Amino acid sequence: MLHSLPFLYPRLFLGKEPPSITISEGWQRLVIDMCAAIDAALPNGMVEDFYIESIKEERARLSVRYHGTFTPEVANIIDAIEDLSTTVCEDCGEAGRQRSDGWMRCLCDFCEKERLIRLNRKN
Ligand SMILES: [Zn+2]
Repeated sequence: MLHSLPFLYPRLFLGKEPPSITISEGWQRLVIDMCAAIDAALPNGMVEDFYIESIKEERARLSVRYHGTFTPEVANIIDAIEDLSTTVCEDCGEAGRQRSDGWMRCLCDFCEKERLIRLNRKN
């Protein structure tokens, strides 16, 4: 699904390099909604010098890096989605919260429990 974003929203991904999109499934909906909102907020036609470089997880929070000129509206959309990601489970998309025991993540109670079980099995 995520690999089709540059085809669905070509105006957002006109950088020389293909965008680097590395997020877990739970945040896919957020990212798709964000791209639709940015595309709608951009002026009509080609937008010079704006493109998304990368979308990734950083310290249990969505992190969107973009390049070039943009309207305050676009910056607000990106800020809002990044903030929202701290309340959405990065694995399953349910309501989650940030957690840390050295390794930061944003998970719902269920996915956190599963993660701990997997971790215990390894040890
Ligand atoms: Zn979850």
